[in-house]
Amino acid sequence: MQFIDMHCDSVWTMFMQDPDIANLYNSKVTSVDFKRMKKGGQLVQFFAVCLMPEGCERELGIEPIPWCYFIRLLREYLLRNVLEHQDIIEMAYNGDDICRNMKNGKMSAILSMEDGAAVDGNLDTLKIYYDMGYRALTLTWNFENCFGAPNSKDPAIMKKGLSSFGLEAVEYMQELGMLVDVSHLSEGGFYDVARICKKPFAATHSNAIALCPHQRNLTDAQIRVLGETGSVTGLNFGPEFLNKDIACKKSTAALIAKHARHIADTGGIECVGIGGDLDGIEGELEISDCSKIYLLEDALKKEGFSEDDIEKIFYKNVLRVIRDTMK
Ligand SMILES: [Zn+2]
Repeated sequence: MQFIDMHCDSVWTMFMQDPDIANLYNSKVTSVDFKRMKKGGQLVQFFAVCLMPEGCERELGIEPIPWCYFIRLLREYLLRNVLEHQDIIEMAYNGDDICRNMKNGKMSAILSMEDGAAVDGNLDTLKIYYDMGYRALTLTWNFENCFGAPNSKDPAIMKKGLSSFGLEAVEYMQELGMLVDVSHLSEGGFYDVARICKKPFAATHSNAIALCPHQRNLTDAQIRVLGETGSVTGLNFGPEFLNKDIACKKSTAALIAKHARHIADTGGIECVGIGGDLDGIEGELEISDCSKIYLLEDALKKEGFSEDDIEKIFYKNVLRVIRDTMK
């Protein structure tokens, strides 16, 4: 069945290997590439450009790369790869683009950014990223930034809301037509987003805390808010976001389906989507690449989901959110 995945770190992984020889069509170093996306029946992949964490260059033994340059570099890398394979995939910036690509028998790539730090507290910079084609932004990664605080084991940090800039920027993002992504955000920030958003938003790669106590996952109350606001969460395939024991390194389709069941029972079937986080997660992954998504389809059937429900989880819910938010 066709599907939309809201998060992967493949562009970053590819860049870290060797962007000159690696390619996004037939990759030996990533779990997502165009060839396997096609084999898996994929409709859309969000390709996240994440920022190089401080000090990372030193570890890699390369010169420090300014964020603004890195963001352009990875974007160009994705665009170049898509252009080279335009017979099967094209960029999409909104729902109409996706539908047009579908009609032409092509998959779609969406450009997203993980970590609003690069916005640097400036709405003009945010607009530049929008103009460059970024259509989704994960407000925080694992550190506090101009938008607000990340999710944390420290309740004081978890309670922090969006900064005054964050509040303004989220409203501006919705005006521009950029999807607001709350995965990685503090709980206080999440509720600020829910309060001020006039359109749906997304946790692109987060599961249920009731089944796995990682602080990146969502509480039942948050899941209900997603349902009430027409928003979605993307099922994350990472073992640390699936297991009761977060040290367990095993990820199975059955476990992902259990999270789908819990999220659907709590917030409604309309708030469940997919955000596998491939190439950003490690461990023993049953769905080890995007072509194996059929394993999730089978597991969802075993979990009692109907064909209609699975269609919603696989692409209809996220397509609705894209249509409501991106322009
Ligand atoms: Zn992430």
